[in-house]
Amino acid sequence: MKEDYYEILGISKNATAAEIKKAYRKKAIEYHPDKNPNDKAAEANFKKAAEAYEVLGDQEKRNKYDQFGHAAFEGGQGFGGSMNMDDIFSQFGDIFGSAFGGGGFGGGFSSGGQRRAKGSDMRIRVKLSLEEIAKGIEKKIKVPRKVQAPGVQYGTCSTCNGKGQVMKIANTILGRMQTSAVCSACGGGGKTLLNRPSGTDAQGMIRKEETVSIKIPAGVEEGMQLKVSGKGNEAPANGISGDLLVLIEELPHDTFVREGNHLHFDLYISISEAALGISKDLNLLDSKARIKLEPGIQSGKTLRLRGKGLPSINGYGSGDLLVHVNVWTPKTLNKEQRQFFEKMQGDTNFIPHPEKSDKSFFEKVKDMFA
Ligand SMILES: [Zn+2]
Repeated sequence: MKEDYYEILGISKNATAAEIKKAYRKKAIEYHPDKNPNDKAAEANFKKAAEAYEVLGDQEKRNKYDQFGHAAFEGGQGFGGSMNMDDIFSQFGDIFGSAFGGGGFGGGFSSGGQRRAKGSDMRIRVKLSLEEIAKGIEKKIKVPRKVQAPGVQYGTCSTCNGKGQVMKIANTILGRMQTSAVCSACGGGGKTLLNRPSGTDAQGMIRKEETVSIKIPAGVEEGMQLKVSGKGNEAPANGISGDLLVLIEELPHDTFVREGNHLHFDLYISISEAALGISKDLNLLDSKARIKLEPGIQSGKTLRLRGKGLPSINGYGSGDLLVHVNVWTPKTLNKEQRQFFEKMQGDTNFIPHPEKSDKSFFEKVKDMFA
């Protein structure tokens, strides 16, 4: 019995498109091949999540699935197991951040039909603090790339005369048919190794640590993937280099919690500050902000500082900073303080009488999603 797609992503049947995307992104990170090298179970889960997202992430397919279940896709587009990792990355590249340009996997065919050898992609992870994400940063990372060894020489493949393809005659019920196939001697590159310096692999390649500089734009998010074109493994015989795929990881922050491009911040003030009002300087990720709390501010009030959150990755504005006011109650009182509060107990001014503007928690939550 095939697992339910909603269960695979750990979401409810009425999850929103955003929730589905978020759930998939989470799974993709959890089971990402970089995090789980040589782990077949993780790879299987990674694929399962991708398959579930392929259906649930597409409203039309999702409707079909909701109505007919897995039967909706039987005999269909080759779901289940047939997807390889590169398919997943190219197909769902946007979920890892389309801002970086997706696609481009697999060897491309040049106009002449000859396949140029393409080096494989490399994957690395980069951990970023919220401060780095707020400003954007250039990271220099050492990458052990496969490169063509010095002194290695390639010649034209004698099997296909450098065409990369060979003609085959096949006898079929329709008669003799001529088909072309990728040359197995050179793998389609049209080139073979002439000399192989010691220490190189079968294709004349060696590993070499290279420092790659990666420009990370402001506003990236956990799970996004950047592509640095041509900085993956080189291909033999001056083929096309693979790409370097950079998976973004976000380090948790001590004071701010991220929600999309918005930031949440818990501000603690004393009872007297709440009663008298106060101005506070806040240290933001890369700036400062001053907020003014009016006398009589209530605990639980949220102040929204527009544009003080994280910049959007597309460059369209910034999120907001949401300052949640918490009034801190002293846990112990000395004699004098105790007397003060005891005196105030009978005071009608100290009896809670919330006004309409002191919105309840539930109303505020409604506002936040409006
Ligand atoms: Zn060949």
